[in-house]
Amino acid sequence: MAQQIYKGNLLSSLSYDELKIIENGYIVVKDGIISDVYEKLPAEYNNEKITDYGDRLIIPAFSDLHMHAPQFAQRGIGMDRLLMDWLNDYTFPQEANFKDLAYASKIYARLIREFLRHGSFHLSLFTTIHYEACDLLFKMLEDSGLYAYTGLVNMDMNSPDYYVDDTNVSLEKTERFIVEHQYSQRVRPILTPRFAPTCSAKLMKGLGELALKYDLGVQTHLVESKAEAAWAKELYPDCASDGEIYEKYGLLQGSGPKIFAHVIFPTPTEERILKQYDGYAVHCPDATSNIIAGIMPLSKLHDNGINITIGSDVGGGHFLAIYRQIARAAQISKMKEFYEEDYSKIELKNAFYMATAASEKIFPHSGKLEKGYRFDALVIENMLDKEYERPIADALERFCYIGDDRNIFARFIDGRLIDPDAVYEMICKK
Ligand SMILES: [Zn+2]
Repeated sequence: MAQQIYKGNLLSSLSYDELKIIENGYIVVKDGIISDVYEKLPAEYNNEKITDYGDRLIIPAFSDLHMHAPQFAQRGIGMDRLLMDWLNDYTFPQEANFKDLAYASKIYARLIREFLRHGSFHLSLFTTIHYEACDLLFKMLEDSGLYAYTGLVNMDMNSPDYYVDDTNVSLEKTERFIVEHQYSQRVRPILTPRFAPTCSAKLMKGLGELALKYDLGVQTHLVESKAEAAWAKELYPDCASDGEIYEKYGLLQGSGPKIFAHVIFPTPTEERILKQYDGYAVHCPDATSNIIAGIMPLSKLHDNGINITIGSDVGGGHFLAIYRQIARAAQISKMKEFYEEDYSKIELKNAFYMATAASEKIFPHSGKLEKGYRFDALVIENMLDKEYERPIADALERFCYIGDDRNIFARFIDGRLIDPDAVYEMICKK
């Protein structure tokens, strides 16, 4: 691949509060890795070819840390339900379809094309209880070039008869999936108990043993509604709260990432666990508005030192684009501030950080346009009106609010230019 030089308006988070902007800057990429970033290109590059993106923006690619791959088929449907009705009326019957591999392969191929179109290149995905479909998704993700964690979903109780596993079967399938994929690099297995109310103590204990044996991380839903948190406590009377179930049953023993979706009603126990295990709370603004009814106390969790990232949570969320979740996070934080006197809103740059650089410990060397990072990046149209002079950061805000995949001019993973349609054709043919 050798060396490439790109010119454009560079925007990348240094931290939660700091957005680094280099107008008309240069990025030098060698073998897919950023070897340097410059305001002015040094003389040594004078004779090199430069790809000039003009007034367009170059930004790091997005991360989607909570998404249900099978629910891509039901996005934007059933949005008038609350969580438990939505699960029983729409989600469980639809997910049960993934026992049919032909169905699974069509939905998953389209999903991967959509991730590529919208620039979400670092993912954490739920699947279903079906081994073959999970295995198929894993292989498709590897072929696509995306970076991801994914796991077979565990549920052995409080689930419909047509969509539930026997405890031992669930554990056996999970271990088989882990063993099959334990040496993969780009896509990695992760434990995926759906949420505490659908997992028995025996299942949780077994998953805890797998976490230790294979040094795995875990992804699940945590205190996502008051009813769910109360139900989990009722089912696990030996645990003080939802979060403690995962700790007590050993699911936090591995060194892999601990990814908790929603965290809308955290107790001090959840906050302690998130901090102690370097866990991630995933904010999913659309899902929270559609079916969950509650808003993560995001700025408070951040002030308490907890890692926060962003997820589309499709199908609870209706739209896969993470840039829209950035806008939505800013929007709903103002609603929370309005209704709760002691809460303060967030800014767009905070949400942009959460959707990019915040997950760099999960996906090393990604999320920033800095030396030593992979060139996983997007070139975005500058959608500002030329007659109305505004700072370049406003162009990022406008894209997040009103842009879409048609305004993404180029996409790079590992420094390679990606064509979502070509990748789609390739994985469909396999
Ligand atoms: Zn979810």
